[in-house]
Amino acid sequence: MALVIKKKSSARKKSQVISIAIPVYNEVENVPILYDHLKPVLQKLPFIFEIIFVDDGSTDGTYAAIQKLQQQDHRIKAISFSRNFGHQAALTAGLQCSTGDAVITMDGDLQHPPSLLPTLIEKWQQGNQVVFTVRESTADESLFKKLTSKLFYRIMAASSKTPVQPFGADFRLLDRAVVASLNTLEERDRFLRGLIGWLGFTAIGVPYTADARAAGTSKYSTRKMIKFAVDGILSFSATPLHLVTFLGLIVSALSFAYGAYSLYAYFFTERTIPGWTSLLVTILFLGGVQLISIGFLGEYLLRVYNETKRRPLYIIKDTLNIDIPQ
Ligand code: UDP
Ligand code: MG
Repeated sequence: MALVIKKKSSARKKSQVISIAIPVYNEVENVPILYDHLKPVLQKLPFIFEIIFVDDGSTDGTYAAIQKLQQQDHRIKAISFSRNFGHQAALTAGLQCSTGDAVITMDGDLQHPPSLLPTLIEKWQQGNQVVFTVRESTADESLFKKLTSKLFYRIMAASSKTPVQPFGADFRLLDRAVVASLNTLEERDRFLRGLIGWLGFTAIGVPYTADARAAGTSKYSTRKMIKFAVDGILSFSATPLHLVTFLGLIVSALSFAYGAYSLYAYFFTERTIPGWTSLLVTILFLGGVQLISIGFLGEYLLRVYNETKRRPLYIIKDTLNIDIPQ
């Protein structure tokens, strides 16, 4: 089914609504700090804002901190998940609940500077429907994270036709049209950076320097990061599968040649002593290739399996100042 996106004809007027969606997972200290930084920035802008916190199953009182802030500022809204569903699910929930003409997504740990919001909005008003940000450097990023993220974007670029902005972060502004089409995508293994690239629309990048986390530690464990990277690659590329097929063909050709040679040796030469070293090497090698291939197939199958279950991406336990979208 082709999706037709209606173009908004209205010229960009004042008093438009802009939503800010912020996923937070155990960020009790950062929530008030972020709010204190956001408030003066928003005050200077001629828009109506809604600030949507998505509490991704925090266990440290993050939701209570948001509730407290909400009493001071009625622009604050919140959704609370029944458990931790992950950053990408939380972002998705934020986008689905937002009502603004544009939606800005940003992290809750102040690594995405609120001072960049006016620039994002300005670019949007110039007619860009996706304003993404490009991280120039992160003050407290470990060498391991730097290297692995570099490697990941290299693999992504080499293996997929969908453009994924290198060093992009989930800090961006999306026009309502983009959010609306994004909300129609139902896949479970969500890699938003890829999905947004896949959607198209007019996009522009804005560079920024990520600050160090205001408080607490990264909520992306190495395990979560690996899952995120694997999701990204497998959802947007069939290259691993092609690679397996290609490897299979080469190995088969080599084994065929070796088989022919061993027959020749058996019938026409004196060298008939069973070369069990070579036999062992061949078996081990083939076994390895087969295991890798089955692994890849399994990874794709798992994704098909996850999609067919049609489970929701997240479960909402409570909402604050917001209607649960159905
Ligand atoms: N986050 C989340 N769910 C998770 C992990 C992280 O909502 O399972 C939030 C987290 O609170 C933060 C943002 O996603 O606001 C980015 O996470 P983090 O800062 O830990 O990632 P990093 O900046 O280290 O890549
Ligand atoms: Mg962070």
